[in-house]
Amino acid sequence: MTPRTQHTFDDPTTRYPKIEPPEQQQPEPGTDEHLDPVPDIGETSYVGSGRLSGRRALITGGDSGIGAAVAIAFAREGADVAISYLPDEQADAERIGALIGAAGRTAALLPGDLTDAAYCRQLVADTVERLGGLDLLVVNAGKQRYTERLEDLSDEQFDQTMKVNVYAMFHLIKAALPELPAGSTIITTTSLEAYKPAPILLDYAMTKAAINNFTKGLAQQLAPRGIRVNAVAPGPVWTVLQVSGGQPLEKIPHFGESTPLGRAGQPAELAPAYVFLASSESSFVAGETLNVNGGQPTP
Ligand code: NAD
Ligand code: MG
Repeated sequence: MTPRTQHTFDDPTTRYPKIEPPEQQQPEPGTDEHLDPVPDIGETSYVGSGRLSGRRALITGGDSGIGAAVAIAFAREGADVAISYLPDEQADAERIGALIGAAGRTAALLPGDLTDAAYCRQLVADTVERLGGLDLLVVNAGKQRYTERLEDLSDEQFDQTMKVNVYAMFHLIKAALPELPAGSTIITTTSLEAYKPAPILLDYAMTKAAINNFTKGLAQQLAPRGIRVNAVAPGPVWTVLQVSGGQPLEKIPHFGESTPLGRAGQPAELAPAYVFLASSESSFVAGETLNVNGGQPTP
């Protein structure tokens, strides 16, 4: 079931299905195209109301999952949207680009590898050129690969996880700052893992703690300049990240079932949190982490 709109009143335990996905694996980064069941990214339900009119947004990892849901929502709220993604994700990206266009907004599709600092800087420059400016940055791309034993966590994986999740955030925000007028908003993507690290996600979880910490420090530095920085911390959300090395195969059918709401979240349920933090209706909120995790306690 999908609610009629994101505003429809109903029971959150049954608003989206309790999924029992079949065991499945995709090579990294994976695509939404091949995910079973197909995640709900809000394409039939998200209704905008002009909350981001005239804004210019860059969303990393906007091709699939949470980033795709955010891209659709931002466009329907009136923003032009650039998305970044890996070249292998072109099909997913084109689908989201078409949905942004269908909302009457400009879409810029800007593929590349965020582990390359030069690409991070070029991505910001290309966004500014294609959209005519930038005032909304969503750092959403992420790498998550489970490893049972520390002895098996390769130096290469450790390095890549840091680079995608932490270094790229630094390079992107640093490059974006000269472009961001007062009123701009930056939103990072942390995780429940930041405070409740799974034993098989040590490298990933520590990057999410770093993102959360960086967000709170940077928010204080940029607030006097009129730029608000906040984070969203998702809990288990049904995305391709989980089946492209993020979780062991046998855990996939049970994904998200232990949350208090008794089910995994859908990407569509994350988008309104990003819209709130992006828009001026959150004008007195800075350095906040908005947890969207099915009811799990957080510090
Ligand atoms: P996703 O796979 O749909 O999105 C992740 C995106 O990261 C990919 O689409 C890809 O474009 C991008 N990416 C990865 N490596 C990259 C690289 N080297 N260069 C450029 N782009 C790269 O999965 P998602 O779950 O929607 O993930 C979005 C964010 O949400 C991530 O930061 C993830 O850590 C976070 N998150 C997800 C969950 C969850 O349960 N799905 C929970 C907590 C946090
Ligand atoms: Mg993707």
